[in-house]
Amino acid sequence: MFTNTTFKSWDLPETLHQGLDSLGWEFATQVQKDTIPIARQGLDLIGQARTGSGKTAAFGIPIIESCSPKGILQALILAPTRELASQVSEELNTIQGDSGLVIATVYGGTDLEKQARKLQDGVDIIVGTHGRVMDMTKREFIDMNSPSIFCLDEADRMLDMGFFPDIMWIVEKMSNRSQTLLFSATFPQEIIDAANEFMNEPEFILTNTEELDIPPIDMYSVSIGRTNKLWALSRLLLRMSDEDQTIIFCNTKRMVDLATQRLKKKNFELEGLHGDLNQNQRERILDRYKNGEISTIVATDVAARGIDVDGITLVVNYDIPNDIDSFIHRIGRTGRIGRTGEAWSLVSKDDSPQLSKIIATYNLDIIESSIPELGKGQSEVINRQEDYQETSNVFGFVTLQLDASSDKIGSSRDILNWFVSKIKCDELAIGDISFDGNTTKVEIHTSKIGLAIKALDKHDFNGMKVKSSIVN
Ligand code: ADP
Ligand code: MG
Repeated sequence: MFTNTTFKSWDLPETLHQGLDSLGWEFATQVQKDTIPIARQGLDLIGQARTGSGKTAAFGIPIIESCSPKGILQALILAPTRELASQVSEELNTIQGDSGLVIATVYGGTDLEKQARKLQDGVDIIVGTHGRVMDMTKREFIDMNSPSIFCLDEADRMLDMGFFPDIMWIVEKMSNRSQTLLFSATFPQEIIDAANEFMNEPEFILTNTEELDIPPIDMYSVSIGRTNKLWALSRLLLRMSDEDQTIIFCNTKRMVDLATQRLKKKNFELEGLHGDLNQNQRERILDRYKNGEISTIVATDVAARGIDVDGITLVVNYDIPNDIDSFIHRIGRTGRIGRTGEAWSLVSKDDSPQLSKIIATYNLDIIESSIPELGKGQSEVINRQEDYQETSNVFGFVTLQLDASSDKIGSSRDILNWFVSKIKCDELAIGDISFDGNTTKVEIHTSKIGLAIKALDKHDFNGMKVKSSIVN
């Protein structure tokens, strides 16, 4: 998220440099580097960057620079909630150092009289929520003709259907407005359309730091049904050497628990990490992981946030994350500082569309692979099971191919009757039956397919043995 552009390289007022120094900030984040120079030119701007990327200072720095301590309102910043407004206000106050600007917070739920008095004493910047700001404007404590800069933090919220009329009410009163800045983590098209109603050819800056941060590691995917994901995982774990460290991601706490329990039973040394553990337990596990006592952890995305361990060489996506960005966060755990690493994704039929979306979004190069073979002298720890779910169609039917033609085994009706009587199932469990030269295809519901295969093994069909295989 940080760039190698230093704040020092910008000719900002000395007081601002001191403010940034007091925070210990040296390098601009990507969104700050991308937007601050444009905002400093007085241009309208829409800045989109993820949460936590430093958007507050991205508008805070240019706004502070353009204001001077005159006791006249020069900039109005709106945020959707009181908490956000006061956070923004605090950060701006620190950044401004000794600039001497009066920054007032104006939001509901606090003493209106007191806020009003403060405003009458003269302010340079207001950070507020729109409701109270409108109220104060109607009471003439705020002169909307005064500020030239207008800024919306979390602009997607501020411009949604609910708030938009209020924002427009404010905008229309700002007769002296010459610059408008919008910042948010997302900008749906309807929000951009709404913004265009009151902005002047804004620059649109999209900073997606994640896109730049795809680690240089090898990525593999394997098609594998839920039933056999643990088997696949055991094969991947068996491949690891003693120095390797692994992190396995599941989408739910429950899956973390299940996978951890089952793998522990099979004597894998690992720990599960998720939000139900208390802070102490989590820290203990993380410490042991960091100093190498534990080589493998199974975690949810949330629990793994902030894990920064250099030795991680394998990331496994037991599930494909619902959130596209999480995929990049996950694989970013490995390949740190030039180390080599691998990321393996276990992809069931249901996961597949989501993985395709991720691949398309980030233009990833993921190699479709098969599960690694056992090493020399290794034996299987978890057995592979038959998994018909993966080969079934949307109605849950699997196609079984019989190596016999209709002349030998009879009509569709005969075949249907044979299965119904042998596996004692409802007729509905048998789907389409079709003939193709020397073979016959029978659709059988996944719940009965195992029985059907056994029945063919055990019983003759019209006095002959019929071989069967699943059609993928
Ligand atoms: P956003 O609004 O994009 O979600 P914030 O502006 O709240 O992000 O910033 C996230 C965190 O990063 C805050 O704790 C902020 O103080 C810190 N931060 C922002 N810019 C920098 C920087 N250039 N150097 C160091 N820390 C920074
Ligand atoms: Mg913010």
